[in-house]
Amino acid sequence: MKILCINPPSVPSYFNAGHHLPVFLVAAYLRQRGNEVDAHDFGALNGTWRDVCGLLVKGYDAIAIMNDYDGVDGLERFLNYVKELSPNSKTITFGRGSHQVPRFFERFGFDSIAYSGDYESAVSAYIEHLQTGGPAPGTLLKTLTGYSAQDIGRWLEPQEWSLPDIKDIPYSAYERLYLDDLNKFCGIPLRSELVVPVARGCPIGCAFCDVPAQQGLRERRLPVARVLEYINACYATRPFDYVSIYAPTFTLKRQWVLDYCSALSKQADIKWKCVTTVSHLDEELITCMAAAGCFRVSVGVETTTPAAVDTLPAAKRRGNARLTEVADWCKTAGIELNCFVMIGMPGESIVEAAAGIAHLLSEGHRVRPTVYTPYDRMSQNMTLQEYAMFNRQLMCHSGVDMPERTQGYSLLYANSLDRATQVMHRIPIRKSST
Ligand code: SF4
Repeated sequence: MKILCINPPSVPSYFNAGHHLPVFLVAAYLRQRGNEVDAHDFGALNGTWRDVCGLLVKGYDAIAIMNDYDGVDGLERFLNYVKELSPNSKTITFGRGSHQVPRFFERFGFDSIAYSGDYESAVSAYIEHLQTGGPAPGTLLKTLTGYSAQDIGRWLEPQEWSLPDIKDIPYSAYERLYLDDLNKFCGIPLRSELVVPVARGCPIGCAFCDVPAQQGLRERRLPVARVLEYINACYATRPFDYVSIYAPTFTLKRQWVLDYCSALSKQADIKWKCVTTVSHLDEELITCMAAAGCFRVSVGVETTTPAAVDTLPAAKRRGNARLTEVADWCKTAGIELNCFVMIGMPGESIVEAAAGIAHLLSEGHRVRPTVYTPYDRMSQNMTLQEYAMFNRQLMCHSGVDMPERTQGYSLLYANSLDRATQVMHRIPIRKSST
């Protein structure tokens, strides 16, 4: 089948190239099953509706449209273009939004909505359904009387994953979005990033996190050899300066990380960064990671206020003493500690959150604040405007009163306490060999 896999144009509130990978993962998976697939991410200020029209006139059999917490305001417009320019195309939407609140997406009129299992398996099941008329696990299918839920979808095992084709990915656009570090996006300014989707799923169980709903509680991870093979193949094609390991809790599997570091140390210097928790780090591991090229570790600190720390799962309740220990090990190893914190958490006032951020900054760490967002309060009956409030930028759901919210927004967006990272100076620029 001839398929378009697309993230329609939108102005991002937050940007993380890793969160856009599903477009390319789905495309790679469908190609491996013999389909002819075009893949486009227009969610990085890099595409116009004219560009979309240029694609739609090619006439696709099916169009797989990524959705997220952000950017849903463009979906109706996109579907209007499809109706006009490619009326015979069947449409399916997939992504974090439709896995969280699938029936919210019924209002747009997609032919199908992916709601469970991995995005690739649900979209692929729908494509096979179009070809054979068989079931489409993991999706809702539009019928004459409404949407009918198919069986739940499948989590793919790592050996079934198809990794993105980097020729599809608009790296220049991504790099432009990463230029101003005070936007608190996590790419490194002035350096070229290769995102490698290493693992999916997380068993830790933070109530505010959507990873379990999107990827499951069981962690699934590629073998070290496949990760290195992919990195080397991509580095041979484009002069990436560093690797961003995309895994919810990278050091969850300690031995895997040691094996990865050992294998990486045997080849040309590759710089990389990752995300984990302070409970899954120790001095030996950090030293080993630094020796293998790690320059930044991001940790989900979330809060430093004791009453709010008590609301976190055990693995994140190690407290400020543990954070200080990990910070010291990182400092000694020459790794930048990037602290993810949330504003508007239950049990923490904005003043306390501000004090926590000021403390982390005074210790020399980078801080990435976002808004505490209770995804469990999303519902299928929300308006588009209500849905858009769950994009981790606004505090409407926090129960925090307006004067305090104003202080919170100042903390999030005025940058008055903050400074930009200088970590790029630890990452040499690789030159193109051509
Ligand atoms: S540790 Fe991280 S990925 Fe895992 S549930 Fe908590 S926030 Fe989500």
